[in-house]
Amino acid sequence: MKRKIEILTSSHAGYCFGVKRAMRLIEQGLASVGEPIYTLGDVIHNPPEVERLRARGVRSVASLEEVAAGGTLVLRAHGVHPDLIQEARRRGILILDATCPFVQRSQSFVKQYSEESLLVIIIGDRDHPEVQGIAGHAGKGVIIVRDEVEAASVVPIDKAGVVIQTTFARGDADKVIKVLSGRVRDLRVRDTICQATEARRAATLALAKKVDLMIVVGGRNSSNTKSLFQVCIDAHVPTHLIESADEIDSAWFERVRRIGLTTGTSTPDWLIDAVLARIAGVADGLSS
Ligand code: SF4
Repeated sequence: MKRKIEILTSSHAGYCFGVKRAMRLIEQGLASVGEPIYTLGDVIHNPPEVERLRARGVRSVASLEEVAAGGTLVLRAHGVHPDLIQEARRRGILILDATCPFVQRSQSFVKQYSEESLLVIIIGDRDHPEVQGIAGHAGKGVIIVRDEVEAASVVPIDKAGVVIQTTFARGDADKVIKVLSGRVRDLRVRDTICQATEARRAATLALAKKVDLMIVVGGRNSSNTKSLFQVCIDAHVPTHLIESADEIDSAWFERVRRIGLTTGTSTPDWLIDAVLARIAGVADGLSS
């Protein structure tokens, strides 16, 4: 007898607002100036979609030297260091700015802190391009802390202003802020965590509680995808993080009646459809 498996998709799946906007700009660029369109690093943290875009003429480069004079460069949703924009203009490169408005908000907060002579503290991952771009907008004197231990090593100071990487987990940020408030007399905090990622984490947790198995679809290099995976693991639900449909293994579905599917903010709809079709196909061949 065939076993019936129910598949539930998270209420927050697919592209977030900022990624949708970036992809729209790329499409507009391809339609108006044609290929190639350049991006500094992969435009989103989703290898299958990056590959699809590459086939359409979107080239990921490591530096401005690789962009032809008069070429078109799309700035990613993560934003960039302001010096890079100046240098690109100097080289006659056309810029299409896909910096997410939520990231732009953080950039303007640090600029403001800096103008008010506050030390700028960014809570986030110093290797993440968004954090590096925000730090560039702060000018000199920026501290980046990723956890309570690093926060505890901040030299006591009089006043500082804090922003938070948009995809940072709120609970972790709160712990860092608590430590910082013991080291800075006048600590100003701007809550720059993106609501889209917060809502996605909450929806993923709610879904994980209803199912026997979770599948998280997204890039292994995507911090918000990894964070969704962690939410499921912390909820003690068997979970697999996959980048493509062909990673799905029928062995995962033993004794499973309900599967939950969630995705990172850079996961395109075509990939979600492919994963759903593959799960349905595998489930169809199972017997109880
Ligand atoms: S996760 Fe939030 S901040 Fe990042 S691109 Fe999407 S909407 Fe913008």
